[in-house]
Amino acid sequence: MSTVLVTGGSGYIGSHTVISLSENGYDVVIVDNLSNSKMEVLNRLEKITGKRFKFYNIDCCDTDALRKVFEENKIDSVIHFAGLKAVGESVKIPLDYYSNNIGSLISVCRLMSEFNVNNIVFSSSATVYGSSEDVPFTEESPLGVCTNPYGWTKWMIEQILRDYAKADPSKKVCLLRYFNPVGAHESGLLGEDPRGIPNNLFPYISKVAGGTLDCLTVFGDDYDTPDGTCLRDYIHVVDLAQGHVKALKFLDKTEDSVSVFNLGTGKGTSVLEALNAFEKACGHEIKHVIGPRRSGDIAVCYASTAKAEEVLGFKAQYGIDEMCSSCWKWQTMNPEGLKD
Ligand code: NAD
Ligand code: UDP
Repeated sequence: MSTVLVTGGSGYIGSHTVISLSENGYDVVIVDNLSNSKMEVLNRLEKITGKRFKFYNIDCCDTDALRKVFEENKIDSVIHFAGLKAVGESVKIPLDYYSNNIGSLISVCRLMSEFNVNNIVFSSSATVYGSSEDVPFTEESPLGVCTNPYGWTKWMIEQILRDYAKADPSKKVCLLRYFNPVGAHESGLLGEDPRGIPNNLFPYISKVAGGTLDCLTVFGDDYDTPDGTCLRDYIHVVDLAQGHVKALKFLDKTEDSVSVFNLGTGKGTSVLEALNAFEKACGHEIKHVIGPRRSGDIAVCYASTAKAEEVLGFKAQYGIDEMCSSCWKWQTMNPEGLKD
């Protein structure tokens, strides 16, 4: 059985990916410092899969502590999710973002070299395309100017991984550029569990729908889009998780040292369309007001999915209705999120 080290594996996308890996016959070792997730995720994973995954509470930046994981387990490949991801926070504490996100990646790569682990899948983001209006973004679209330190860490890590693979021909890197991951596991046991007031649209709508927040502010309705609100490519987290399994299988057979794939649905959904779909899922109106634009937002962002379809054999299965209904189930079963 092939063993995958999943850093950040108790986080939102990581935990859903652990389920897909397990369903596809992989053995999983999770490393997470719980800076943005909770131990309860491990219990939930056990309920869903029937397995208790090996878990290390370690900061990936701490190379010596992480070495223990490589010594104690025969790791075959790495999926590196561990990182800080709040755009606004990254503007306030940029050094923490650069040191955590880049430091953890370098530490993982050093240990991959030391222990002859060759394949790594990295969580990149559509944010690396910058604010170009030339949509859909293909993997060949030029990388843009990022608008915040979080985005730059993704941009820089992509370059670091390219250099790493160039210097060592045994290494194979898969950069997955996620669009907007949303939704939750169908069981309602796992989902996005942000600390404090959410910044992102779906967690915010969920909390307004569930009554813990009063009102959604729609950030601008004067964009050059059909209803004036921004379009995004929302992708169900369970589809996204499946994309990682495809990426690992692809790394096993490819000769290319670096491969890049968009993971999205190829469809743009407006803020108001998302809101309407959520109202349908929860069965009641969701209070909202139109506010000013949020600084840094681009009008339209969606993926070209052709390459992922052709090369990875990846195609998202779920649409906006399933994304909303799974979020709503997660919200109603866990109104306060998970307990520490
Ligand atoms: P998340 O915060 O839920 O998960 C990240 C996990 O990494 C958390 O459990 C956190 O505790 C852990 N972590 C952070 N720094 C660590 C460190 N130094 N050592 C060990 N663990 C550490 O976030 P997510 O939404 O699951 O995102 C996973 C990855 O995907 C991140 O790299 C994120 O930047 C990237 N990504 C996310 C989105 C999104 O919208 N959610 C979009 C594009 C890319
Ligand atoms: N958005 C909004 N109100 C909110 C949060 C988000 O109108 O409270 C909009 C935001 O302006 C963007 C879309 O919803 O057009 C998706 O935002 P999110 O932060 O979820 O993802 P982003 O695409 O910015 O990474």
